Amino acid sequence: MTPPTETLFTKIINRQIPAEIIYEDDLAIAFKDINPQAPIHVLIVPKQPLPSLADAVPEDHRVLGHLLMTVKRVAEQVGLENGYRVVINTGVDGGQTVNHLHLHLLGGRPLHWPPG
Ligand code: C5P
Repeated sequence: MTPPTETLFTKIINRQIPAEIIYEDDLAIAFKDINPQAPIHVLIVPKQPLPSLADAVPEDHRVLGHLLMTVKRVAEQVGLENGYRVVINTGVDGGQTVNHLHLHLLGGRPLHWPPG
């Protein structure tokens, strides 16, 4: 799939629409989800607009690893010392609604398993 050049999340990255950004570096940005599903719900998003995990190629391994390390960093930053959950909704059956890869960081309460 050809990566889209502009998504909802590239508009957040480019400050064209507002978001509560809590971390940013050369490769990634993290901001609070507008519709939180837990007391802490942060989205970690690559600046490169990869549509979904299903579109990743081997050359994306560096940014994918960086996203996981960013989750860990942000989890520490927001004080999730009792644990947390990381979710990557992928494709239609995965419930993905924004076609720009993003990792949900959820925490701040005990989370149930399995999710719906
Ligand atoms: O995994 P999925 O694609 O469903 O997640 C998209 C997420 O983006 C939702 O949790 C939604 O609340 C969030 N969102 C946001 N800010 C926007 C639009 C959507 O945080 N402006």
